[in-house]
Amino acid sequence: VPFIEKENKGGVSKKAGKILLATVKGDVHDIGKNIVGVVLSCNNFQIIDLGVMTPMEKILKTAEDEKVDIIGLSGLITPSLEEMTYVAKEMERRKLSLPLLIGGATTSRIHTAVRIDPCYQGPVIHVLDASRSVPVASSLISGTVETAREFSEKTKAEYRKLREEHLQRQQVKTLISLDEARNRKYSSNWGEIPIKKPEFLGTKSFRDFPIEDLIPFIDWTPFFIAWEMKGKYPSILDDPGPGKEAQKLFNDAKKLIDTIISRKLLRANAVIGFYPANSDMDDIEVYHYHNSAVNGYEEDRSKALLHLHHLRQQNKKAPDQPNFCLSDFIAPKDSGREDYIGAFVVTAGLGAEEAVKQFENDHDDYSAIMLKALADRFAEAFAEYLHLQVRKKYWAYNPSENLAYEELIREGYSGIRPAPGYPACPDHQEKAILFQLLDAEKNTGITLTESLAMHPAASVSGWYFAHPESKYFGINKIARDQVEDYAKRIGQNLVDTERWLATILGYERT
Ligand code: SAH
Repeated sequence: VPFIEKENKGGVSKKAGKILLATVKGDVHDIGKNIVGVVLSCNNFQIIDLGVMTPMEKILKTAEDEKVDIIGLSGLITPSLEEMTYVAKEMERRKLSLPLLIGGATTSRIHTAVRIDPCYQGPVIHVLDASRSVPVASSLISGTVETAREFSEKTKAEYRKLREEHLQRQQVKTLISLDEARNRKYSSNWGEIPIKKPEFLGTKSFRDFPIEDLIPFIDWTPFFIAWEMKGKYPSILDDPGPGKEAQKLFNDAKKLIDTIISRKLLRANAVIGFYPANSDMDDIEVYHYHNSAVNGYEEDRSKALLHLHHLRQQNKKAPDQPNFCLSDFIAPKDSGREDYIGAFVVTAGLGAEEAVKQFENDHDDYSAIMLKALADRFAEAFAEYLHLQVRKKYWAYNPSENLAYEELIREGYSGIRPAPGYPACPDHQEKAILFQLLDAEKNTGITLTESLAMHPAASVSGWYFAHPESKYFGINKIARDQVEDYAKRIGQNLVDTERWLATILGYERT
């Protein structure tokens, strides 16, 4: 990778400036931030990296004690966006003026402009990727006071304009009422939809699953994206542009995989489960069941074990386009059909932190980042592998499926595995219910942070839907009537619900 090999040309001792980097409280993802750190230090900036799950107090105290020139915040999951605005507000309250850089997968220029920039009078700059971090940091601290001021004023003006445009778009975007959206739900012909009873009800866990069995299920394209190389695997390896770098990265990955396996650096655990379920409008009721020696798996649909809560699209659509909610893919209570839902939680990141620490102690940042990127790949591969086993063997709704690698990676099979926090089910809070249902902490060793990120970071979770017409979609923006209804359904006060759903509110919060 070019930027890592560009290591200090040596001899230069004067540092270009001091930069504090931190992944915010509640978030555990830091590959992007680590790459930024390496790139900046290769360019002679001094980096203080506070790691993951960093409370605001620690960030601001360290910034003060160390007299840093810039604070850089990183985060991957949507609740982190809220956390970043808290930090910005506190910086304003303390009358700080040092620049605030914003980066990470869910951050964007528009979010930074609309939500974070107005909270803080000092410079606020969204940094798209590691390669942008050097010119941005240089503009802010390497030039004269005037050039820095010019740069931050230009950015402030740009963000102000983005905010105004955003506000106008917001006003013209029409959302339909929740009632109307429900009338426009996706309705299946429930008399004809095939429903298969899973081979077991309740959970099944996998402990210390052999990592080597997951290699054929790795989707390599996101691996190159993690290293900020855009292009599809395998063609990226032959690309006249980044091909050589990509091939080197790929070879290094394979070498480290051998080490991971021989030295058992990563452990993989998982739990899956299937439950009797029916939908009740936008909720899904999960029912009691037990295993009797005589009759096998018996269900008691008279009592709900718990409720899963989903959101429904409210954007105005063409007449033939339904307003989707994931519950539409589960047979309604009054359909006369007995349906099921599945759930899964997997990790391949047990042991990752210790291994990373070891690499960092040896000043091998490259291998530390590589290990995290590979742990993520193994977690996704584990999810892909288990989903296949579910379709063929455990739920067995498609026992004869036989897809090539490319089709599997394209998710060209029947059924979906939407993940809480992602577009079709954007509320991370439902992950707590998923964990409760599967007793996932105990069964996998994964814990949830206060923002409901999974720890270790190399973990994946979600629901299984077997409906042959089920597909991924995005909820997009929702209106206040739905947020009020949803808050009631999950038994939460409106202010907290609005905080969790901040990124999808189609109106200004009160
Ligand atoms: N092969 C990829 C898989 C991860 S991305 C990889 O290795 O990285 C695709 C996953 O994201 C899906 O399996 C699903 O769990 C989730 N996902 C994608 N679109 C979604 C949506 N609209 N709503 C909810 N989850 C979604």
